[in-house]
This record gives sequence, C-alpha cells and structure tokens, in this order.
Amino acid sequence: MNDEAAATPGLNLTAPPPIVHGRPVEIADGVYVIPDGRVPLVPNIGVILGDRAALVVDAGLGPRSGAVAHQIARELAGDRPLYLTLTHFHPEHGFGAQAFYDATIIYNRTQHDEFRQKAQGYLQQFQGLSSAVAKELEGVELTDPHITYDGGADLDLGGKIVELRTWGRAHSRGDQTIFLPEERLLFTGDLVENRFYPIFPYFPPYDVDVDSQNWITVVEALQGLAPLVVVPGHGELGDAGLLATTHEYLTRLRSSVIQLAAEGRSEGEIISLLAAQLHAHYPDWDATEPWRIATGVQTFLAL
Ligand SMILES: [Zn+2]
Repeated sequence: MNDEAAATPGLNLTAPPPIVHGRPVEIADGVYVIPDGRVPLVPNIGVILGDRAALVVDAGLGPRSGAVAHQIARELAGDRPLYLTLTHFHPEHGFGAQAFYDATIIYNRTQHDEFRQKAQGYLQQFQGLSSAVAKELEGVELTDPHITYDGGADLDLGGKIVELRTWGRAHSRGDQTIFLPEERLLFTGDLVENRFYPIFPYFPPYDVDVDSQNWITVVEALQGLAPLVVVPGHGELGDAGLLATTHEYLTRLRSSVIQLAAEGRSEGEIISLLAAQLHAHYPDWDATEPWRIATGVQTFLAL
C-alpha cells in the first residue's frame, strides 16, 4: 500500500447501495432509530416524538434517502410539526435534507458556516466515489436551515426535552450531539462509531479541520453526560462503552503515532505498522476502508 492509496477515500464496491432502507426501531419511549444496517454511507437516523412535535436527527445521503427518512418520520409523527437537525454537515448525514420540505431545520451556526463553505466540494468528492453514490446525489439541493443557534439549544417537544450541543472542532468543525437527559440517550453522529474505524476527514488542501486532539477531549465531555444509550453515526447502538472504546482508539492512535515518529519512522511505515496492530486489536471492526487509519495517522502527525 502506498501512502497515496492509503489516504484516498474509497468504498467497498460490493456493498449495497447507500440508501436508507431500515424500518424504525423504538429504542426508548417515543424514540426511534432507523438503523444503518452497517451499509456504507447510510447513517443511523433518529426520530424523537414529543406530545407536540417531533425531531428527526440526520437525513441520509441525497433526496431518495431523505424521502425514505421523511416518510418514516411522518408515519411516526402523524400531524405533529417536524423539526430536522443534523449531527454534522457531511453528505451522508445531511444531503437528504431537501426531502423535509415541511420541517423546520435547525443547525448550529458553526455547522451551517462549514456547510456553506464545504458542501459543494464534498458533493463533488462524493460524486466521484462510485456510480452508486453519484446516483444518490442526483438532484441534490443544498438546503439551508431555518434556525441557527450558538453553543446549545434545548427543545421541548412536549414531555420530551432534547438538548442540542456543540463541542468545538473534532470530527468536523460543527459536530452536534443530541441528548435526551431524562432517557440519558445520546446521538453522537460521527464522533462515535460502532465497529467501524473513526473517520478523519483529513484531505489537504481541501479539508484539514478535523481536530483529533480536541476530539479526545470531546469524548471525555460526552462521558461526563453518563449516557445509558449511545446511538453512533454508523453501526449498532450501544451504551457508554462505545464512548470508552472511541476514547481508547483515539488515545492509542495518538500515542502510537508519537512513539513511531520519534523512532524516525516514515508516514508510510507508521500507517502500515499501525494498520496491522489495529486490525489485530479490533478484529471485529470493519476493515474495508484502510484510508480511515491512514488519515488518522496523518492528523496526529500534523499536530
Ligand atoms: Zn462525518
């Protein structure tokens, strides 16, 4: 594996098409997840029902997935007003937003600024990933929110309080968590995955905003919420153990990169050595996208 190949995002071309396809699963009273089914570029999507309104978390990749998510949300919510928010602006989480034509869309301000700055570039990058991805992005309309907030926003959906929070740069510049304090249930977006390697969107010169160091701090802050249920960006839901595993991975990667760089190893050597070590340490993680490890190494080398 050369460095360039290792750092180039690629998909498992034998994977199913990246379309939201699951049926909603009720994970707490009035809280549903449309599971990703571990399909690449399909996120876990949340639907949270209060007495008066419903909140959808993430919209899927493109108009077709957005329409599926919207239909399921409408089936669950009935005639309640819908809100839509995104864990972050990345295409598979947000580029289905246009299908929520009847929803009030809420982003944090940093996320919205990042979306406006980068969405067109990410659209082109994703269109180049595969014909299946390009197909899902046909007709995409980059959709702005109706409401932006700074720092945090609490929604009272009617007997259901939802806390939207930002934590500074980590996986993206505007990551947002969605926490239900009564249920102690946390949607993390791509700050946490389950048996997928964390994604470092480190694509110089186009995007170098991932902050691996602060990501570790953010995960520690999320551990402070003591969630009972954690819905990751991708992969099965779990408990606080998902946060602990993410923290272990990030700190393990950081210390290993620092140590190997101090030994004078090249970037390519570090990536090869660590890929072997990490695959052995996390044998049940999806290893079909080696660029995830390579870009992780590169972000820590760039500190
Ligand atoms: Zn992401």
